Amino acid sequence: MINNKPKSPIFGDIYRYIYNKGYTTRKSIAADLGLSFPTVTNNLQELIETGYVIIDGTLESTGGRKAYTYKCAPTSMFAVGLDITKHHLNVVLVNTLGELVDDDRFRINFEDTDAYYQFAAEQIDTLLASNDIAHDKILGVGISLPILLKDDQKTVTYAKVVTVDDTTYDRIGKFIHFPYLLFNDANSAGLAEWWNLSSEKTAVYIALNPSIGGATIDGKLLHTGDNNRASEFGHITIIPGGRRCYCGKKGCVDAYCSETVLSGFTDGNIQQFFQDLPYNVGYQNTFDDYLDHLALAANTLRVCYDCDIIVGGNVGANMGEEYIEVLKNKLIELNPFEDNAEYIRRCQYITSASAVGASLYYIKQFIENM
Ligand SMILES: [Zn+2]
Repeated sequence: MINNKPKSPIFGDIYRYIYNKGYTTRKSIAADLGLSFPTVTNNLQELIETGYVIIDGTLESTGGRKAYTYKCAPTSMFAVGLDITKHHLNVVLVNTLGELVDDDRFRINFEDTDAYYQFAAEQIDTLLASNDIAHDKILGVGISLPILLKDDQKTVTYAKVVTVDDTTYDRIGKFIHFPYLLFNDANSAGLAEWWNLSSEKTAVYIALNPSIGGATIDGKLLHTGDNNRASEFGHITIIPGGRRCYCGKKGCVDAYCSETVLSGFTDGNIQQFFQDLPYNVGYQNTFDDYLDHLALAANTLRVCYDCDIIVGGNVGANMGEEYIEVLKNKLIELNPFEDNAEYIRRCQYITSASAVGASLYYIKQFIENM
């Protein structure tokens, strides 16, 4: 049961402390937040009564007495994420802890039409009904698209992969009856990957999809840049005068490392490419060339940011760990400072990263405003 009565700042501080710790004790809360035991006890009682916090178990304390451990209730609130691509729609339900609860995926060609958005809204309702989630438990719907936006998360500034315009945001509102905003797909996916890391370190994420995007995350914040187009790693020029990119320029990372460079051999099916790869010398040569160019891009990121690099998107999700090792060796060849490349790793999400990441906006907002 959630109520909306005004809360003290301490109430939110204790909630965020427990959220960041995962689980904790009354003693740790009091010590680390510099609060008295009665203050902690009263606020914890209220957090439990309102359904935000639950007793997780007990911990053997040094005095031999068992201390209760507390954690944030995973099911107090939820958020929904939609990922719209040219040929697929992915819908996810995420709990208060940012964990994926359920998802659904449809092969449907994107159209910027009422019929398409009505279909998307119906899939949200179906997902909520099948998980028995009441509409008042939904914080909002984050919608991921392969587009760039102003920081109002409504106004489209660049859309070449799918066709949308400045009326799109408002037209969606006819069908989605929750708070909703639009997000860049690769920024969202990077945020979802970063959320799963147990550190607060900076990380960059490169999304190897039919078009390449990226994200730079520092302290749970996305670095968006002056024009909201930071981390567009697909358009780093790696070969002057090289292959034509869809952006109109030549030699971009996208022209050498997009998913379609590989999946073009297998009728758009990237899983099939990797299944056939061990038995096909032509594919092996293509993929080696692909990894040479990916290493150029990844080394550029390493030199610029000096932080962990997550290889994601459909290529990252489907390439085996053995190819990450090949990539590491290529990076060692390029980098003047390092004799290993342990900073590079594969993404954790196989599917749904962008949809989950878009929904996390509402989870973050909920935690911050508690
Ligand atoms: Zn380009």
